[in-house]
Amino acid sequence: MTDRRPVSAAGAITITPIVVADLHVEGEVMPVCVHVIDHPDGRVLVDTGMTELHPAVVAAFAPRLYPLNEQDFDVAGIDIVVNTHLHADHCGGNHLFAGRPIYVQRRELDDARREEDYTIREWVDAPDLQYVAVDGEIELLPGVRLVPAPGHTPGSQVVVVETGDRPDVICGDTAVWFGELDEPRTEGQRLVRALDPEKAWLAHVREPWRSGVTNAEGSE
Ligand SMILES: [Zn+2]
Repeated sequence: MTDRRPVSAAGAITITPIVVADLHVEGEVMPVCVHVIDHPDGRVLVDTGMTELHPAVVAAFAPRLYPLNEQDFDVAGIDIVVNTHLHADHCGGNHLFAGRPIYVQRRELDDARREEDYTIREWVDAPDLQYVAVDGEIELLPGVRLVPAPGHTPGSQVVVVETGDRPDVICGDTAVWFGELDEPRTEGQRLVRALDPEKAWLAHVREPWRSGVTNAEGSE
């Protein structure tokens, strides 16, 4: 990460996690977090959580929802949406952002539309959604890159944000818990470690993972 790109002002890009649901998995509560990137050129939302219950999700996770549109959250203020991947708990709020660009890897979009039991397809293809299907790495905004990170799904991507000397990475489910970054196994997990992030934000842990720190697991 030697060619770090300076932004207009130091610290101008910030990342804020927002809890949009709690899942109940094997007796544990697992949050679902989405992340807002405030950038001088626009406001980016990474993943959209869920806004309604669906029998398939209820059966698997008994979720409690805190939908973005029912929180003190400015839905209209989001300029760009990114889906790290299209599992149901990451795209269930996409319908709130009809008409705005939603960036996803093309492989992920194809798989979500084609494979059985991959996601809730009507959430992926809610009316009037405008997907921008990406092939590989792109710069979304100055200092904000989308990078493919296969592992959790073949079409997963992470968002690399230049917030300081080292980047922050918004990982989606590339790692579901901290141990998967402590001992990376998938291509995506190795990529995140190779980026040497200051913080790695996971979708299902409230606090960010930091390298070299004894990280507490996120369950509570
Ligand atoms: Zn997932």
